[in-house]
Amino acid sequence: MPPKKTKVALPKNTPLSNWVKREPKPPPESDDDNNKNPKTTSESPSSATSYDDPLREPHPFYKDSEKHGIVLRKFYPHEMSNDRARAYIADEIPRPIEALNAALAETAAHRESVRVQDAVVHWFKMDLRVSDNRALFLAGEKAREAGVPLIGLYVVSPQDFEAHLRAPVRVDFMLRTLRVLREDLGKLDIPLWVETVGKRREVPGRVVELMEGWGARHLFVNVEYEVDELRREAKMARMLMEKGMTLQVAHDTCVVPPGALKSGSGRQYAVYTPWYRSWVKHVHENLELLEMSEPPARNPPEARLKLAGLFDCEIPRAPEGKRLTKEEEKKFAALWPAGEHEAKKRLAKFCEDVIARYADSRNIPSVSGTSSLSVHFASGTLSARTAVRTARDSNNTKRLDGGNQGIQTWISEVAWRDFYKHVLVNWPYVCMNKPFKPEYSNIEWSYDQDHFQAWTEGRTGFPIVDAAMRQLKGMGWVHNRCRMIVASFLSKDLLLDWRMGERYFMEHLVDGDFASNNGGWGFSASVGVDPQPYFRVFNPLLQSEKFDPDGDYIRKWVPELKGVMGKAIHDPYGRGAEVIAKKAGYPRPIVEHKGARERALVAYKAGLESGL
Ligand SMILES: Cc1cc2nc3c(=O)[nH]c(=O)nc-3n(C[C@H](O)[C@H](O)[C@H](O)COP(=O)(O)OP(=O)(O)OC[C@H]3O[C@@H](n4cnc5c(N)ncnc54)[C@H](O)[C@@H]3O)c2cc1C
Repeated sequence: MPPKKTKVALPKNTPLSNWVKREPKPPPESDDDNNKNPKTTSESPSSATSYDDPLREPHPFYKDSEKHGIVLRKFYPHEMSNDRARAYIADEIPRPIEALNAALAETAAHRESVRVQDAVVHWFKMDLRVSDNRALFLAGEKAREAGVPLIGLYVVSPQDFEAHLRAPVRVDFMLRTLRVLREDLGKLDIPLWVETVGKRREVPGRVVELMEGWGARHLFVNVEYEVDELRREAKMARMLMEKGMTLQVAHDTCVVPPGALKSGSGRQYAVYTPWYRSWVKHVHENLELLEMSEPPARNPPEARLKLAGLFDCEIPRAPEGKRLTKEEEKKFAALWPAGEHEAKKRLAKFCEDVIARYADSRNIPSVSGTSSLSVHFASGTLSARTAVRTARDSNNTKRLDGGNQGIQTWISEVAWRDFYKHVLVNWPYVCMNKPFKPEYSNIEWSYDQDHFQAWTEGRTGFPIVDAAMRQLKGMGWVHNRCRMIVASFLSKDLLLDWRMGERYFMEHLVDGDFASNNGGWGFSASVGVDPQPYFRVFNPLLQSEKFDPDGDYIRKWVPELKGVMGKAIHDPYGRGAEVIAKKAGYPRPIVEHKGARERALVAYKAGLESGL
């Protein structure tokens, strides 16, 4: 069904372009999610395309998302229609996890029948650690039982980095981690083979080739829950079966695997609080979820000789476009030491010194009141299981929701990470540039480049916003409170398309993680699962006064305001520090909050009522 258009009353200062003049439908192309079955008709030469499946028609605003780098057409189809997103909600389109489960079910009997040949392979992805790694342990057991060596594999895919907007700082962290991993595996006589594959489509084929070369029939992986990865694994399960090989998957990245929690009505939770109660109950009833996996068994002694060529594998440089300068490399190596040992050290120190006060300290960006472990969760140098269990064991109760308030609160924050991955799996279109509630696609966003640039550069004239954006550039990391402030500012005060901010974060965060980032942006822009209601708009000045009362955080990241004293730090132009701010070259506010708020409320309401 083509989308209906309903006229809505728009405010005077809202541009009308999105409602009055839309581009003709795009031409047919690609074999991907959104564009299958388009056909050219001779009857309608002006809009040369019609679709056998109307659900494959793109959203009427699809041009905006492409023009502004939100939908990457090099890799993905046009932005899908709201009806297609709703079809996912209504269980009318199989989710990628269902495709993987179907492929695993189809290949189950075959998997049982395949005998181990000369080696077993574990394919590392976002699980770059030796300890407490579910699939790695299983792969090690398989190899040990058969008396053959285990081989570790990591594939560097520059196109995946590009498609998934990997930040250079994150790529750098990952490459440094591979060195640690290679050493740790080496101590167990397990080689780590690292190879770059230029085209992402060629990755599965190359993995099979390598396995053939090593005489391996068993490939172990931990499931990644993003759409591309689930689809690739489904394809690989069948592909490997055709070659007489098998794919063995494990759930590792979440404490509770996605899909395990259902509400009383049998549906997935879309609200955190009841989901969290259910998560706690589920873990209490299934304590094996917190059992840590042993490192893999040591390889047989002859492995060093047999696989000699694999042991001195080079870790490549970051691919072009993802490289840091030498200076940045040095800075970030000092800020974010890589590898699982650093993760464990940081976790132990946090549990010893900080966690008990976490409930009070977590919202103050000028103090080190949080764990800064997100970088390790994102690259898998620390498992959520190990983190939750270690935190629990530092409490005076085995309950996850009891005892010390700081510990409880921290565990509930780690659970947010699980929550957003569960959401991604059940509502996979959030991974395809659609908001959780499809109707929020109909908001007429601004794409003002001057505003966007001011935001990215930390030159909006709102000190707390600017401090946070400069922290992002300076550290590749931002305090959670400040992530919320800048995300709200971008989407509400500037009315910029929240997906531009989501993208920018991914391109700069050392802990960039699709599900958590998307969840955080959805929450702050009020377009996501369990969001802030759209009419609740953060006031940057009040946020600043509440969470950075003395202005320490601002002065650290916006040094030109160092000389501004007292409360004027939160609003130098409005509170009598104009001369200092002006002299220091600090900009005036680029919008006026009250008016911007009104504009946002009207635009959100109009979008929701547009009936598209
Ligand atoms: C707009 C926005 C974007 C975000 N992008 C990311 C991202 O790309 N990657 C990322 O890991 N987190 C993201 N978050 C969540 C959160 O800001 C970070 O996880 C947190 O700031 C990391 O610091 P920490 O490790 O010191 O956290 P702590 O306070 O010590 O929390 C412990 C862990 O719990 C998890 N966690 C805490 N808060 C959240 C949350 N709100 N959502 C999901 N997980 C949470 C993280 O894994 C974190 O490391 C985002 C939040 C917002 C509002």
